[in-house]
Amino acid sequence: MTDRVVPDAPLDQARGLHVVTLGTAAGPAIRSECPGIATAVVVDGQFYLVDFGLGVTRAAHAAGLRGENLKACFVTHLHSDHVAEIPAYFLWNWGKPVEGFTRPVRILGPGSADPAAGSVGIEGLVDHVLRAYSYDIDVRIVDEGRPPLFDLLQAKEIELPASAAGADGVRTPRMDPFPVYEDELVRVSAILVEHPPIFPAFAFRFDTAYGSVVISGDTTESLNTSRLADGADLLVHEAVNLDFYRARNFGPKFLNHQEIAHTTPAGVGRVATRAGVTRVVLSHLAGVATDEEWTAGVATEYVGPVTVAHPGDVYTVAPVDAPAATVSPA
Ligand SMILES: [Zn+2]
Repeated sequence: MTDRVVPDAPLDQARGLHVVTLGTAAGPAIRSECPGIATAVVVDGQFYLVDFGLGVTRAAHAAGLRGENLKACFVTHLHSDHVAEIPAYFLWNWGKPVEGFTRPVRILGPGSADPAAGSVGIEGLVDHVLRAYSYDIDVRIVDEGRPPLFDLLQAKEIELPASAAGADGVRTPRMDPFPVYEDELVRVSAILVEHPPIFPAFAFRFDTAYGSVVISGDTTESLNTSRLADGADLLVHEAVNLDFYRARNFGPKFLNHQEIAHTTPAGVGRVATRAGVTRVVLSHLAGVATDEEWTAGVATEYVGPVTVAHPGDVYTVAPVDAPAATVSPA
């Protein structure tokens, strides 16, 4: 496997399995020019989006990804920096005039953490977004002949398996991955990860005929992530530089959040080593460090190749001349 490769063909025509780190920044904060967290998994030119950080609409377009090739979407958790650009992405990638999708697209993500308190899950979030823009959507259906977005964008909340009901009130017990989506190109499975106080928070694994990719979402160092990533070809994992925050006056509560809800580079290394993954890419970088500082931390616990993702990087998991294939049945 090579990294940061520009495929011979445009991504929407490229055979094989590629991962594009569309946005790499963490948090609802502008600390760099990097777009917010968003990752595309591209299989034989069709693609899947994981999270919708600030800037994903332009970043996906710049990468050559068009809505007409979008197969499905996944949301790891409902922190705003992972969902903020859901409205713009779909309004800018819907219907023929913009090479957008004209067939149903599913967006899978968390259910409500606390329905009694009125908090919504991904179904409520998407429903509210569509209602908020209903005037524009209705006008474009009538005025431009666009397909009915209300029917095409299908939000679905991920049901937790019985194994997620931990003993002694543990919200995120050790568990096995469970399937959440399958089509002719991918099988996607999920597992709960630890990102307190957010619940639920998921990591996702894509298994394809060309190899496997795991995206950690936001999590502290988690045995569940290692379980999900067992033997994976590529692990895209978040990381936090705690020293960056300790050296600045962000306050004890903010520092505590970074400590208990995110993963140090050494922690990423331990997760990767336990899982036996082939390669690690760091994305969703909280705090500032040089690439060498990020990778050196991982290398204290992991001997494989580590790369710091930059916006628009393309990681080729399988050779671009790999034969076309469909994912084998579960
Ligand atoms: Zn988060």
